Amino acid sequence: MVFNESGKIWFNGKLVNWKEANIHVLSHVVHYGSSVFEGIRCYRTKKGPAIFRLKEHVNRLFNSAKIYRMDVEYSEDEFSEAVIETIKANELVECYIRPVIFRGYGKLGVHPLENPLEYVIAVWSWGKYLGEEALEKGVDVGVSTWRRLAPDTMPNIAKAGSNYMNSQLAKMESVANGYHEAIMLDYQGMVSEGTGENVFLIKDEVLYTPPASTSLLPGITRDSIIKLALSMDIEVREELIPREMLYIADEAFLTGTAAEVTPIRSVDQITVGSGKRGEITGILQKNFFDIINGEKEDKYGWLTFLE
Ligand code: PMP
Repeated sequence: MVFNESGKIWFNGKLVNWKEANIHVLSHVVHYGSSVFEGIRCYRTKKGPAIFRLKEHVNRLFNSAKIYRMDVEYSEDEFSEAVIETIKANELVECYIRPVIFRGYGKLGVHPLENPLEYVIAVWSWGKYLGEEALEKGVDVGVSTWRRLAPDTMPNIAKAGSNYMNSQLAKMESVANGYHEAIMLDYQGMVSEGTGENVFLIKDEVLYTPPASTSLLPGITRDSIIKLALSMDIEVREELIPREMLYIADEAFLTGTAAEVTPIRSVDQITVGSGKRGEITGILQKNFFDIINGEKEDKYGWLTFLE
């Protein structure tokens, strides 16, 4: 991850210098975690830079804001335009995009509505989240002792900054235990997701992934992989997955904007399948990369070209 500190950040409607995109320490978000955000990628393609599923990401951001009663003063189209403007202003052809909407400085207290909303779009160069090698060799994951948030505690469909306190606990625990990543169970003990990824497994040529009712964030990469699998006549089942299904799966992988499609080679130190990227995982991964790199026809209209 490389920050370009001489770049520009879109801050409340204007492009400002990187180092001037600051907030007050008494901003509501600092104290009560009142933010919603997105993670989006822009890829280098043969036809120039293209943003992956911009519309869906901006729509999810606006839905996250709605859940938290944030009255966003931009339209989704205006916000999408601002994302494009920010990438162009930074002259990047390939980058990670981080939009955030948060409650700023006004009146401190749990009731948030007297704090103005603030809007940020930052972009920077970013390679592979779990490492280049991970995409080929896979990662070691451990099931966390920390559960995903129960559905009546915090809304998991909102991509809110505060949800990531839960993810941070699981991530720190997994790294301390020598794993690359954690898999969290939901409040009933069924497989939910990673700390920033959704999870899939393959058993007897059927692709399984947990349903939205397991407190997961419905990932845009998850949706893309389901669509790709169906187009390849792979049977897809969104159903409850007990932890031990991960151990006896033929293949397993994680999906996310940051992690893209990353194979899982072991769970709780038990080797999954052959212990390397499985065949179906490899095919899905290749199809996914071929579309985002512009090498295969984008028949789903997933790419928004900058020019
Ligand atoms: N779950 C969580 C908790 C995440 O943070 C992410 C990353 N946004 C995902 C799943 C994957 O979502 P997406 O594919 O939309 O990036």
